[in-house]
Amino acid sequence: MKSENYFINHKSQWCPGCGNFPILSALKKALAKLNIKNENAVVVSGIGCSGKIPHYLKTYGFEGVHGRVLPVATGVKLSNNDLTVIGCAGDGDGYGIGGNHLIHAMRRNIDITYIVHNNQIYGLTTGQVSPTTSLNFKSKTTPFGNIENPLNPLSIALSSGATFVSRGFSGRLDHLVNLIVKGIKHKGFSLIDVFQPCVSFNYLNTYDWFEKRIYDLQKTKHNTNDLFAAHKKTLEENKLPIGILYQIKKPTYDSLLPQIKKQSLVKQNISKVNINPLLKELE
Ligand code: SF4
Repeated sequence: MKSENYFINHKSQWCPGCGNFPILSALKKALAKLNIKNENAVVVSGIGCSGKIPHYLKTYGFEGVHGRVLPVATGVKLSNNDLTVIGCAGDGDGYGIGGNHLIHAMRRNIDITYIVHNNQIYGLTTGQVSPTTSLNFKSKTTPFGNIENPLNPLSIALSSGATFVSRGFSGRLDHLVNLIVKGIKHKGFSLIDVFQPCVSFNYLNTYDWFEKRIYDLQKTKHNTNDLFAAHKKTLEENKLPIGILYQIKKPTYDSLLPQIKKQSLVKQNISKVNINPLLKELE
């Protein structure tokens, strides 16, 4: 299948040069590489610049409320676990407002691919600090510099039991395509944190800034089964690893759930289910 297959004629609202464009392109290419039919993919987003991504994809899509990408994506997956479910959130959406949902989705190991467009700022609302904004960063909400320490999403993912923990960069399209392909193929929850430059409001973390710091972890001797090695990698600050930090096999939530483990809910014949006792209870 070709990536053009997922093209939809909808005018983009993103700023020219925004790091969201390569993420959109990488997602289309990954879906095409995996031959996923349009009707079998669902992209769920929240609020923020990243939240617009379902508008630009010819798949099923749902733009929900702020921070609730994962509850909606979980509902979709449990209703029809034959679908490929992809969540897209920003750093504010995914790590701030939706941070609690993320921890629990990871420990459950539900089979969802979660792409976090991490631009280290609130872009849509024109530049306020987010949970991943660097210390001392001056913004509209921090004119004297950010005094809050940024959280480390990959470290949290490893501590929460995530089975696929990775990081990409909008400036490395082919690398990102492969990462998304591997994330979708992974059976279980896959976190793909993407360094996504916001060219309008983040003057610090630019494409050049990342280019000087990133390196491809899969070109080193890193062992992706080694939890402690992965933890160490999340603590690197001067050089920033991209690629898969950690990946292990574990049963997925949806494969363990008795009601759907043999057949997805939407395919089950419910015509003989007697709901009258339940209705009576609610009278
Ligand atoms: Fe992209 Fe930033 Fe513009 Fe939002 S504000 S579209 S993140 S460049």
